[in-house]
Amino acid sequence: SPSRSSVIIIGAGVSGISAARLLAENGIEDVVILEASDRIGGRIRKESFGGVSIELGAGWIAGVGGKESNPVWELASQSSLRTCFSDYSNARFNIYDKSGKIFPSGIAADSYKKAVDSAIQKLKRLDQNCFNDVTKLTELPCSPKTPIELAIDFILHDFEMAEVEPISTYVDFGEREFLVADERGYEFLLYKMAESFLFTSEGKIVDSRLKLNKVVRELQHSRNGVTVKTEDGCVYEANYVILSASIGVLQSDLISFKPPLPRWKTDAIEQCDVMVYTKIFLKFPCNFWPCGPGKEFFIYAHERRGYYTFWQHMENAYPGSNILVVTLTNGESKRVEAQSDKETLKEAMEVLRNMFGPNIPNATDILVPRWWNNRFQRGSYSNYPIISNYQPIQNIKAPVGRIFFTGEHTSERFNGYVHGGYLAGIDTSKALLEEIRKELEISSESQTFL
Ligand code: FAD
Repeated sequence: SPSRSSVIIIGAGVSGISAARLLAENGIEDVVILEASDRIGGRIRKESFGGVSIELGAGWIAGVGGKESNPVWELASQSSLRTCFSDYSNARFNIYDKSGKIFPSGIAADSYKKAVDSAIQKLKRLDQNCFNDVTKLTELPCSPKTPIELAIDFILHDFEMAEVEPISTYVDFGEREFLVADERGYEFLLYKMAESFLFTSEGKIVDSRLKLNKVVRELQHSRNGVTVKTEDGCVYEANYVILSASIGVLQSDLISFKPPLPRWKTDAIEQCDVMVYTKIFLKFPCNFWPCGPGKEFFIYAHERRGYYTFWQHMENAYPGSNILVVTLTNGESKRVEAQSDKETLKEAMEVLRNMFGPNIPNATDILVPRWWNNRFQRGSYSNYPIISNYQPIQNIKAPVGRIFFTGEHTSERFNGYVHGGYLAGIDTSKALLEEIRKELEISSESQTFL
């Protein structure tokens, strides 16, 4: 029969690693970490592209410079991670129309203000009517219609600009955001954390407690413990499980539970929206876009909302890299994931030629991450309805018997962010330690009784 460990952690993303570290710090070291892919990091993932290191998943440390210190910013400082300040405030003055003209700053500022005001109006109405259905918003008379309105609406909502509603990340940790631009990648922070409790050699984790390429397919749980089965036929047993798979994975049928999860749990899981966020990277033989102060971000206004709207050049992060990034979300993300990269390249080039003229050179390389079709992710991050209380998150987070839940989607204040995942891991391990302490107390009491 398989050996039994105290805790099995499923997933080696930021939440799984931070959960494991806290357990190790509290003396629980017989932990097994089962990770489906061949690496740690999860949605923090670097890739080399066009001669530099780019981030396919999380790219920014969001929430810096405020009254409290963002723990991920602290980790980054300890590791001397190279970062670049991102100033989004100028993006609204770099809005191109389909013929390549930049909207005069007065018009852009007016449209921006109108969009912010109408978004605030919508929120108020939502509040008053206790709507839960965000789709009804598009039927309100103040909905964006022109390309510039649609572009600004996209930036405000799909990028969570803090002007519209207070976002805990910015309220607590500050409004500044820093782009990670380090050859070691954002994921270096995870290696640094893992190093403190797992054996490493020459920068690699060589600890047998971390098991890669282990796709968990079944969790059989009872009052006595949990049996975990993986796709390759292995069986693991533990007193407890911490499950850090994403909300998209929980909504899919990758992992089955025996007995099945209770209704309150599955209902809460279904209630959470999954955002898809896709950064498409394009490499050019030379740069043809404006650089210099206030030019890092630019916007393309098109009649279709979210159609290659939000652009960034990488010259601030990596001078001379000649790389552009365009971000798509949700429906547009799913659309490009389903088509060939060649088709996506064609669309992106057409948009760039509209903005910068017909004579710009073709991109020599393209990278399109596919978070939606990745069966270990099924999306980019959780998104709870704007007007929702914390109940669904609390239910998503609540343990079911010996199975504990963690991950960015279980963070009440910071879901969707790296620091959300990091803090969720700590939170879940604290709750588990408390449970273990209680169990020990009960068993020692019953021994005294005997
Ligand atoms: P994950 O990182 O997903 O870890 C879960 C792990 O579980 C994964 O490694 C997965 O492979 C594994 N797993 C899943 N199923 C199984 C299974 N059945 N068996 C075994 N293992 C399994 N946040 C920011 O703060 N700033 C940003 O700029 C930012 N941008 C983002 C951009 C993109 C494109 C994406 C995708 C995310 C972005 N985020 C950003 C969000 C941030 O990346 C996440 O909130 C955070 O990394 C989630 O960590 P996690 O541990 O909760 O989940």
